[in-house]
Amino acid sequence: MSFDAENKMQFLFALRSKGVTDSTVLNAMERIDRGAFIQEGLFTDRAYEDMPLPIACGQTISQPSVVGLMTQAAQIQPRDKVLEVGTGSGYQAAILSLLARRVYTVDRHRRLVQAARAVFEAMDLTNITAFTADGSHGLPDQAPFDRIVVTAAAEDPPGPLLAQLKIGGIMVVPVGQSDAVQSLIRVTRHESGFEYDELRPVRFVPLVEGLGKD
Ligand code: SAH
Repeated sequence: MSFDAENKMQFLFALRSKGVTDSTVLNAMERIDRGAFIQEGLFTDRAYEDMPLPIACGQTISQPSVVGLMTQAAQIQPRDKVLEVGTGSGYQAAILSLLARRVYTVDRHRRLVQAARAVFEAMDLTNITAFTADGSHGLPDQAPFDRIVVTAAAEDPPGPLLAQLKIGGIMVVPVGQSDAVQSLIRVTRHESGFEYDELRPVRFVPLVEGLGKD
């Protein structure tokens, strides 16, 4: 299955109908073929449907409309340095890379990071650096960040990530217990402290401490 004109039209229609209206975000999502991030197998023919799909290591590639809404909520600017926690397939990082100057992405599973790097290379997305690490500590060596996008659910926004956000910076993070409905939260850092906006209910895999086995 390929990201041809008909698939694109349906894909963008589904995004718009779920509230992804920012034209820069829609343009980026039109340019990145989600099918490239899904390994050959059972689910390749569903790559352009608005649903999460399984990837390696028991993880998931997020639903496209959720990727769009999170990216939209992050209000990425062209000069931004962005951290993504939870590389997974690499799809969200690829979208971010078209909107920002530089993207750092981190996952606790080495196998996922290696697979994502190969896709970034094949797509010539040279402004993404992917690391295997526990992203709940952020990336102190690359901090501070203009934007942080967390694609795994934490019980609370992790302290180290808040600390690595620039003044004026924005973090988008799903918050809540892993087996319950979580809330997507936007945190804006002001001189005087953090402002929290609750955006919508979401469902993500949990943010887990430490490195994965593979
Ligand atoms: N953004 C991904 C989907 C993420 S699924 C995409 O576009 O495909 C959530 C990912 O978060 C999983 O790959 C999981 O391994 C990762 N994860 C969970 N806890 C983590 C942690 N502490 N540090 C880094 N990655 C973590």
